[in-house]
Amino acid sequence: MKLSPQTIQAAVDAAHSSSAPNIGGANANYIPYLASVPSELFGVAVMTPDGRLYKAGDTDYAFAIESISKVFTLALVTELIGSEAVRQKVGTTPTGLPFNSVMALELHNGKPLSPLVNAGAIAIVSLVSGVSADACWAKILDMQSRFAGRPIALSDEINQSEQTTNFHNRAIGWLLCSAGTCYSDPMRAVDVYTRQCSTLVTTTDLAVMGATLAGGGVNPVTRLSVVAAANIPHLLSEMTMEGLYTASGDWAYQVGLPGKSGVGGGILAVAPGKLAIAAFSPPLDLVGNSVRGQAAVAYIAKALGLNLFGS
Ligand code: GLU
Repeated sequence: MKLSPQTIQAAVDAAHSSSAPNIGGANANYIPYLASVPSELFGVAVMTPDGRLYKAGDTDYAFAIESISKVFTLALVTELIGSEAVRQKVGTTPTGLPFNSVMALELHNGKPLSPLVNAGAIAIVSLVSGVSADACWAKILDMQSRFAGRPIALSDEINQSEQTTNFHNRAIGWLLCSAGTCYSDPMRAVDVYTRQCSTLVTTTDLAVMGATLAGGGVNPVTRLSVVAAANIPHLLSEMTMEGLYTASGDWAYQVGLPGKSGVGGGILAVAPGKLAIAAFSPPLDLVGNSVRGQAAVAYIAKALGLNLFGS
């Protein structure tokens, strides 16, 4: 199907208006900040690799990137150590268990299996070299910014909210350490992992970040290469297998696009070579995916005929 600008904007508008009445789900509340974000906010954006933006709703509201950050740090570490080292040291297979599962670690001798669950993401952060936590953090923040095409910033408020409540993730850090699968000081890795979840992005930013993945690693706004084209299939396959938590299989079955969501209510999907779809709406379903966000992304994917397995 030839995707004209009018066709794409019509799909974005229709996705927003048809998904808006869906008031199911609830904000995440295990991180206090997230519970306080207005639930009615709803933004949808699409960007193509030539930098055209299509949007509807609250696309300029800045929210916590949360788990979506895992994709960009995985991109950084894949660039730094190579895709095979990621597979050996962390693993590249879905766990089939919730994103913060300790049992998943126990079942596999402390190997996280997936870089997109918390244990794997903490292990991935531990592979970012740096003399200090701040040095390591600077590289991760720079990568988020290069993907977004503008300087991304940490929210001190969100970071504070997470750092003072992240006991479960700290426990995961020590379990990784005991298994030999944390490659830096574990509390440093958890600290930096928590910061990477606490940056602020808009729905438009997410669309740019996704369009960088859709466009072979070249940012559509800055035209700079952010990640080698050869690494993109590794990132997108991980998103397909683990990007929407334990609903990733259903998502592939029904929508057929690599995606990643976060408990802040953001969701991103990538149609390789074509475009990225981003949405934001805080209320989540029981597995942690934005209710309206999923509906809007699925609507656009279907309207524009983007299912990868249907092409
Ligand atoms: N900071 C959150 C955590 O580690 C991110 C979770 C998510 O978005 O999946 O629990």
